[in-house]
Amino acid sequence: MRFQFLGTSASGGFPNPHCRCENCLAAREAGGKSIRMMCSAMIDGELLIDLGPDLSGACLRFGVDLGDLRWVLQTHDHGDHLLPLHATMRAANWAAKNVEPLEWFVNDHAVPIILAGNEKSLPKLDMTIDQPDSSAMLKISRIEPWQELVFGPYEVLTIPANHSSAVLPMLFAIRKGGRSLLYASDTAELPEGVWPRVAEFGWHFDLVIFDHNDGFMRPYSNTHSGSDGVLQEYARMRAVGLVDESTRLIGTHLAHHSNTIHEVEAERAQALGYDLAYDGMVVDL
Ligand SMILES: [Zn+2]
Ligand SMILES: [Zn+2]
Ligand SMILES: [Zn+2]
Repeated sequence: MRFQFLGTSASGGFPNPHCRCENCLAAREAGGKSIRMMCSAMIDGELLIDLGPDLSGACLRFGVDLGDLRWVLQTHDHGDHLLPLHATMRAANWAAKNVEPLEWFVNDHAVPIILAGNEKSLPKLDMTIDQPDSSAMLKISRIEPWQELVFGPYEVLTIPANHSSAVLPMLFAIRKGGRSLLYASDTAELPEGVWPRVAEFGWHFDLVIFDHNDGFMRPYSNTHSGSDGVLQEYARMRAVGLVDESTRLIGTHLAHHSNTIHEVEAERAQALGYDLAYDGMVVDL
C-alpha cells in the first residue's frame, strides 16, 4: 500500500490566508513542509479519504490524477473535509471523461449537504444514492459507525470518532493485501470500550495516523487531540494489541493556532517517538 498525505492542515489551511498570527507568519516565511492544505489522503491512486475543498489544489501541487479513483471514505461533513462540488466535477458526463466509476461512502448527515451543494446540476448528474448495483458514474453509499465494508481489494471498519461538533464523524481502519492502517483525523479522546471493540474485530495496525490539531498546546479539546492525547490513545491501543513496536505513528491535521513551522514541531514529535505528516508525504506499507 502506498499512502500519500495530500493535505495535513486543520480548517482554513496553514497558513490560513486570512491570518497573520505568529505561526502563520512563520509558516509563510519558511515555506516547504510548513505550507499545509486542508486534509485528504490517497491510497494507491484508487482510494481517497475525504473529498475536501483543497483537493484540486493538492492534485495540481503533487501531480495527482484522480481518473483511477474508485472509492472515497468520507470522515465527516465539516467544510474542511467535504466540498459538495466534487459530485459535479466527477459525476457529470460533460465534466469527467474517461475515468473510473466512483463510490463515495458518506454518513447519513452528509447526503443532504452533497445534494444541496449541487442543486443546479442535480438533474444532469449521473449519480445514484443507496443503489449498490447501479452503473452510475458516481454512487453515494451511506455508512454508519461499526460497519465492515468490503470493496475491491480493501476491507474497512468504520469507527465512531469523538468530534463533538460533527454528526456521525468516523475514523477508518483500512486493510489491503495483509497491511493495515488507522486514519483518525478529527477526534478527541475515544470513549472507553472503543479500542477493545476494534481489537475484537481482529485488527492490528502497521500505521496509525492521528489527529494532532492542538500540537503541544493541550492533550485534547472537545473535538481534537494534541501530543499528550495522541500518546495516551496510542498507549490504550497498545494495551489491547492494536499496535506494537513495529507500528509507525504519524500526526496530522495541524492547526495554525497551536503549531509553528514543520521542522520545529516534527523535531518535538520525533523526540517522543513519532512523526508529523507534511503535504505530499508518502508512506509505503
Ligand atoms: Zn478537520
Ligand atoms: Zn494563524
Ligand atoms: Zn471536523
